[in-house]
Parts: sequence; C-alpha cells; structure tokens
Amino acid sequence: MTIEYINGLEVDAITLSEIVQSLPELDRQTGPFTFISVNPQIGLHAEDYPEIVTFINQATHRIPDGIGIVKVSQQQEKKIKERVAGIELMYELLKFADTHHKRIFLYGAKPDVLSQAVENIERNYPGLTVAGSIDGYTNMSEQDIVETINRSQTDMVFVALGFPRQELWLANHYQEVEAKYFQDVGGAFDVISG
Ligand code: UDP
Repeated sequence: MTIEYINGLEVDAITLSEIVQSLPELDRQTGPFTFISVNPQIGLHAEDYPEIVTFINQATHRIPDGIGIVKVSQQQEKKIKERVAGIELMYELLKFADTHHKRIFLYGAKPDVLSQAVENIERNYPGLTVAGSIDGYTNMSEQDIVETINRSQTDMVFVALGFPRQELWLANHYQEVEAKYFQDVGGAFDVISG
C-alpha cells in the first residue's frame, strides 16, 4: 500500500478489492483499524482542523474517496487507481460482519433515518447483530456515548455525523472505544434508509 500526499494529507493507494481481500487477515490481528475517507472537503479545510489531519495521518486506512484525488494522483504519475467510495466500503464491511457474525454500532443521522437504516441492515445482513445505535442529534454527553458503545460490545462502529463532526468525534474518542473497526461514513445511513 503506497502513501501519497494530497493537500498535505496522507492517502493510501488502495482499492476496494484489496481492502476486501485483506479483511480476513486484519480480523486475525489486534486492531483497532480506522477506515477514514479522504475527500476534497477535508483537503480544502485541512488547515482549519490540524487535529483531523493528525488523526487521518495516523489512521490505518486513508481511503481515496474523491475522483479529484484520483485525478491529481494520476497526473503526478502516482499510484491511486480508483476512487473508493465510503459507502461501498461500508457495504463490504457489513457483508464481512454478516458472514463472520460480527456486532455493529451505528452513530449518527436523524432518529427516523437511523431506525430505518437499522431495520434495512438487519433485514439485508441477517448474520450480523446491530449491537446498538445513537442518533446524531442526541443530548447524550460524549462520555455517555462512549460508555454506551462500550457496553454494546460491538466489533464495528460506523460514524455518520458529516464533516467535520465525525472526524473530530473519532479523533477524540476512538481510542476509548473498545471496538476493532471504525469508519466515518458521511451520509451513508441516509442512503441505506432510503
Ligand atoms: N448529521 C448528524 N448530526 C449533525 C450533523 C449531521 O447526525 O449534527 C448527519 C446527517 O443527518 C447525515 C450525515 O450526518 O446523516 C451527513 O450529513 P451531511 O450530508 O450534512 O454531511 P456531509 O455528507 O456533507 O459530510
């Protein structure tokens, strides 16, 4: 996996199929694994959020989630072959969770969107367990959210709060959360609920 620098951000030259193929091996390792979308919005605002840049640069998987990033890479004769859309990766993680009977936790989106997303996921991926969910407009404290996720004993956490909330939340809290896989997924719950 090659690392490139786009707008001062590290991004991995990795394809969706490479990630999918690596999942069984990752699952044998300790983790945690952080799958973070690097997109033009983050590049544009990188200077305003140094903590997000630090977090992304320490993530285990910085996915090239923007066609602009792929184009810049290719103009510089670098190695990024294709865009990896965050939602496509989420579907693959859900498939993996389904076949390996993992527990997942959803954090973010409006309450009705979230409950519909949970229902659709439970129907389409019967082998996984939705260990819990918290909407993105809750009054719960950040500490309560962390404790709730920990009590759920989840394996995966998907965070859908939009930029920059989801990146800031992950940067500040993923180390306190006892889960193995983390992904920031933007508007994915809205898509899944639709
Ligand atoms: N969202 C949330 N809490 C907030 C702001 C946004 O849960 O305080 C959710 C929103 O409901 C949507 C997702 O975050 O499900 C992505 O939001 P948006 O499309 O605004 O973000 P972007 O995709 O542009 O990063």
